[in-house]
Amino acid sequence: MNPIIEIGDQPGLRVAVYPGSFDPVTNGHLDIIHRAAKVFDKLIVAVLNNTSKNPLFSVEERTELLWQVTRDLPNVEIDSFRDLLINYMKKKNAHLIVRGLRAVSDFEYELQLASTNRKLCEDIETFFMTSTPKYSYLSSSIVKEIARFHGPVADLVPPEVEQALRGKYGSGSL
Ligand code: ADP
Repeated sequence: MNPIIEIGDQPGLRVAVYPGSFDPVTNGHLDIIHRAAKVFDKLIVAVLNNTSKNPLFSVEERTELLWQVTRDLPNVEIDSFRDLLINYMKKKNAHLIVRGLRAVSDFEYELQLASTNRKLCEDIETFFMTSTPKYSYLSSSIVKEIARFHGPVADLVPPEVEQALRGKYGSGSL
């Protein structure tokens, strides 16, 4: 397989997809986005529209927040999908998946996911980026839990997300 793909008039462009729920985007996600944007020519951050989960933010809200916090990154595109990831990737003509690894606990699930995607389409490669240590404990769920009880999240999420959380849960002492 050749992970270097040709797109329109830009031959050799390396396009990667960073899929996830991003409910909401945290500084941990943002760290991966910044680092991956340096490695790949184009990074598509793709919000999974998964109806089986019960998200706090709608897909539109999640994509809007992602757009706001990445608008300074010219090679990052924000999108959403409601499909099998490999079908979405085929549509985007992308062969590379980026995922973040925080701790050993992420590994088993991520390995299962990467192996399944590879089984479904052997042209797809998954690249894992380890979390920056200061974000290794950070997850959207933890952020929501803190925000729900009006705890401080300013160090965990960008200001736009902090404000959006306030909109959902009220200000309190956030
Ligand atoms: P999903 O529901 O698909 O796990 P998430 O939005 O929770 O979606 O995460 C998307 C990706 O970002 C996953 O690969 C996850 O491991 C990674 N990720 C989440 N939080 C962090 C973090 N703090 N540091 C590095 N990677 C992270």
